[in-house]
Amino acid sequence: MSHGYVDALVETAPDGISFDGLEVEFDGAYSYRTPEMELTGLTEPAVRELATGTPHVTNWYFWHAVAPQKDDRWAFLRWLEGDDPVPDRYDRLADGITTEWGQLHITARLDGDGRRRYRLCHVDDAGADALERYDDPLAARELATHTDDGSYRPLKTAPTLRTGWEFPDLGPAELVQAVDFFYPATITNWQQERTGQLDVSHWRETMARQTGMYGVIETWDRGEGHDHVEWVAESCCRDSQCLKRRRWQYDDETELETPGGDGPFPCREPCSLVITAARKFTKLDAEQTQSYEFELTPSEKEQLEALVDAVADGEIENVRDADLGEGANRFRARFLRARRFDDEGTLGRPTEDRAND
Ligand code: SF4
Repeated sequence: MSHGYVDALVETAPDGISFDGLEVEFDGAYSYRTPEMELTGLTEPAVRELATGTPHVTNWYFWHAVAPQKDDRWAFLRWLEGDDPVPDRYDRLADGITTEWGQLHITARLDGDGRRRYRLCHVDDAGADALERYDDPLAARELATHTDDGSYRPLKTAPTLRTGWEFPDLGPAELVQAVDFFYPATITNWQQERTGQLDVSHWRETMARQTGMYGVIETWDRGEGHDHVEWVAESCCRDSQCLKRRRWQYDDETELETPGGDGPFPCREPCSLVITAARKFTKLDAEQTQSYEFELTPSEKEQLEALVDAVADGEIENVRDADLGEGANRFRARFLRARRFDDEGTLGRPTEDRAND
């Protein structure tokens, strides 16, 4: 029985084949080279026999006829398995080569004739059984929409991807499609960065493009340095909030001090969530500070600080009712409210008085 990859090799040999250590040529007779062997003067039946079931040949065929040929998709799939010599790579693929992409856990394996199949699940589910099975990459779009507790995820690259699912057996094109539904454009931006083509749009130029209701942000930093941009990046872009690695800075010449993150895929410009947040922060920042007077015990002051920290770091749900030593404990918070807030839920004098001061 003739294999498609052997037919393809024979057809392509007159143009010359050179890929991953395999060299095949035809010039009246076939020459066939790999790092392990070199044969010349081969007849077609001989080269067919030699190629059948050979990793170098099935590998060549996979990367030229099976894997998506679009530059970024091809590069991503290739990156998943690395550049080891083919025999070593096939050994590793037989066991499964795993990679993380944000909160995605991807395992590449060998199928028959050098075809690759991929398993995709949440990183926290890498060793889990009884996951909900999906086969259509489109399902990723729905899975990416809500967190485990059902909250909407406005930022697809937030580290809040729900768990409990798997795509156990995807082809190469399907895998890339699913990844793109989970984390839109991350593969394209990753490849553009690798090839020096990532078009980064820094804060100043991005804000200068904002019009109408968002134009207010553009004026925010005039004459005041760029502390507020640091606060925005700190609030929204840290790895704890977004898995993209922020490449944008204040402007071409001014780097932000807030770390950009460590993820594999870059962020090329402030996203719509950051712009919306910045608009809100701009308004809040425009308010004048006021003095309020109320008394708290040292423990209560620390408790307020702990509450803000817990909310900001998304730790509230980890504080159990029995953890009464935690400032963000629900009963501690209720006790503080009962003791220090009035019936209107106000701490100290009414906030409404601020306009009259
Ligand atoms: S701007 Fe910040 S929050 Fe938005 S995608 Fe980029 S890194 Fe993430």
